[in-house]
Amino acid sequence: MGTMEAPILTVNNLNKQFGSGCDQCSNPADRRLDKNYCPACGTVYSCQNITFDLHPGEVLGIVGESGSGKSTLMRCLYFDQEVTSGEAYLGPYKEGRSNLFRESSQQKRYIRNHLMGKVYQNPVLGLRMNFSSIGNIAEKMIAAGNRNVAAMEARGSELLERVHIPVYRMKEAPKNFSGGMQQRVQIAKALSNHPPILLLDEVTTGLDLSVQANVLDLIKHLQRELSISILLVSHDLGVIRMLANRTMVMLDGRVVEQGLTDQILEDPHHAYTQQLVHSLL
Ligand code: ADP
Ligand code: MG
Repeated sequence: MGTMEAPILTVNNLNKQFGSGCDQCSNPADRRLDKNYCPACGTVYSCQNITFDLHPGEVLGIVGESGSGKSTLMRCLYFDQEVTSGEAYLGPYKEGRSNLFRESSQQKRYIRNHLMGKVYQNPVLGLRMNFSSIGNIAEKMIAAGNRNVAAMEARGSELLERVHIPVYRMKEAPKNFSGGMQQRVQIAKALSNHPPILLLDEVTTGLDLSVQANVLDLIKHLQRELSISILLVSHDLGVIRMLANRTMVMLDGRVVEQGLTDQILEDPHHAYTQQLVHSLL
């Protein structure tokens, strides 16, 4: 991972608000908010001027308490939700020169299907629970234009094997699976079109600790094998510590600190980060 290498993803001043704002909160310079919320008009500023780079082969951790805007950021990047304003550039897309948020919905679909994979905290959002597991994977491959059934079956079973779903269970629906297995099917689906970027939103939250460790270990191995770039969101600094090269700390919709994970753990600057680090010890 060379720091001289161009970023694979650049995000500039991403903003997402719910509500249209009022004269008390419209000006970002002197906004008076209660956390991320304008008490005068009820507008929620979920993401405020989020700016960062993701480098090839890097795992960037995004940590912050519940409500700090992590999932909103991920939803905006995967076009699940529209940004209020901001820019994002992908190295492998139009040579990194086109703001993704300005693209047509058809182009956004292309980007989602070919250049990104996403794993949701809630598997219901990422999988059809009643389809077969291999069918769930095929769905993403079909969305990317694949038509060769035999090739998709071969790729699907290879992926499921990689995430340690036994071959004889591939035709089974995710609703029959444990939480850890459902997340592994989501990971296989997300990887199906060889995307350079993976978005992981609280993938292990709510799983038993031993299952959580297995899934994190799987992600670590896949990341090394595929040298894929990952945005890893968690409210748990312990999860971030296991996987992230660099870390970004969010609070009330803002990035309050970012840097090498080791440095943040050793010498946290922001009071909120200090509190997070101390609670790890
Ligand atoms: P996190 O993932 O860090 O827990 P979220 O991104 O889910 O945080 O939420 C950030 C903030 O945005 C929260 O205050 C949440 O209530 C608010 N929010 C998220 N979605 C909506 C929505 N559709 N309408 C209004 N507020 C929302
Ligand atoms: Mg969330």
